[in-house]
Amino acid sequence: MSKAHPQHTGPSAMTSPAQLERLGEHLRKLRLLQSGERLEALLQQAAANDVPYADFLEQVLSEEVAPKTSKNVAMRTAMARFPFVKPLETFDFSYQPSIDKKQVIDLSSCHFIEHGDNVIILGPPGVGKTHMAVSLGLKAIEAGYQVLFTTAAHLIGSLAKAMAEGKLDDKLKFYPTPRLLIIDEIGYLPIDRQGANVFCQLISRRYERGPMILTSNQSFGAWGEVFGNRVIATAILDRLLHHAVTLNIRGNSYRLNACSARPTTPIPNQVGRFELPRVGRIRLPLTRNSRTSRLLIWPKNSL
Ligand code: ADP
Ligand code: MG
Repeated sequence: MSKAHPQHTGPSAMTSPAQLERLGEHLRKLRLLQSGERLEALLQQAAANDVPYADFLEQVLSEEVAPKTSKNVAMRTAMARFPFVKPLETFDFSYQPSIDKKQVIDLSSCHFIEHGDNVIILGPPGVGKTHMAVSLGLKAIEAGYQVLFTTAAHLIGSLAKAMAEGKLDDKLKFYPTPRLLIIDEIGYLPIDRQGANVFCQLISRRYERGPMILTSNQSFGAWGEVFGNRVIATAILDRLLHHAVTLNIRGNSYRLNACSARPTTPIPNQVGRFELPRVGRIRLPLTRNSRTSRLLIWPKNSL
């Protein structure tokens, strides 16, 4: 740039104070605040180094885009309502050899979102289903998508409440809005007839339009029991599985691993009136319906 005016050197080689003022005003109006603050320095640098026009423009624009992008990512991460923020890089694949790492890396490219596919993550408690769902959700946010995380219990509760208030239709319009909807913990709590119905309606709304990630501690064969109705469960599964990738995590609980690695704190032999069996170094209650006991009775090849 400076070559065109070799006689002009110094801070205002190509820019008069009035022009600098006008440029600053334009940048402020466009809210290009980074460049606004550093405009004079940027121009000087470009003139001194004989920077080509395109390179100069690229430098200015990328300085603007980078902070806006990270602000936007932070905002969408907060809006997604994740229970925790753990990127995929923190997932220890060596602990769960049943997971095909290549398949997960492929999913992290977010093509499944473009194709409107669902991802269903199955496995017993503690194996990293929620972690995996959150990590894939974070990848989707990085790729520019809007994501919403919810649990099956919360989702069904809010749909049932909306129904009681005569606002079900509005609520059903809300959940399809985020590009990626994550529904965690299908199967932890029993779902009544009305809950199964509204859930089925939501799945129908998103069918072939809105990709979802769902997690469940129950195999598909048990979803009839989860939804308290085989016909509704089949209708839900039929839509979900039409375009879906299923990840079966068959390993051991990461939580229990962390517990047994920690120095042990004494745990009483009894919880309530139940005698506790030993698992590693901790003891679990033997209530057949409790979340922890499922870990003991999870059939290895039931998925
Ligand atoms: P699930 O949803 O299957 O019950 P979570 O995803 O909640 O399990 O995992 C329980 C805890 O263990 C979380 O803190 C999670 O980050 C951690 N965790 C589980 N699996 C892994 C793993 N393979 N690598 C790193 N952390 C893991
Ligand atoms: Mg979970």
